[in-house]
Amino acid sequence: MALRITDDCLNCFACISDCPNEAISEGAIIHVIDPSLCTECVGSHESPRCIKVCPAETAIEWDPERVESRETLLARWQELHPGETPVLFDNE
Ligand code: SF4
Repeated sequence: MALRITDDCLNCFACISDCPNEAISEGAIIHVIDPSLCTECVGSHESPRCIKVCPAETAIEWDPERVESRETLLARWQELHPGETPVLFDNE
């Protein structure tokens, strides 16, 4: 599932530069994640970078309305990074 940003976002910009897919942008009030670009960091990192770098514990969460398989997420990564080799981990 894609991740989403909650009202607890501090607008600190910590996550924007760390997203490997440029899925996070400045919204009108808080930062937003474009679910069509989010791969849960599959293909790039072992776990979601945005959650890792966010200083507010409750500002980024899994979106239960956007459940996607690892295969779907990896296919999206490959569309976003043509010609590149994904970084895969044992737990994937
Ligand atoms: Fe970007 Fe990864 Fe966060 Fe998705 S989980 S928004 S790809 S940093």
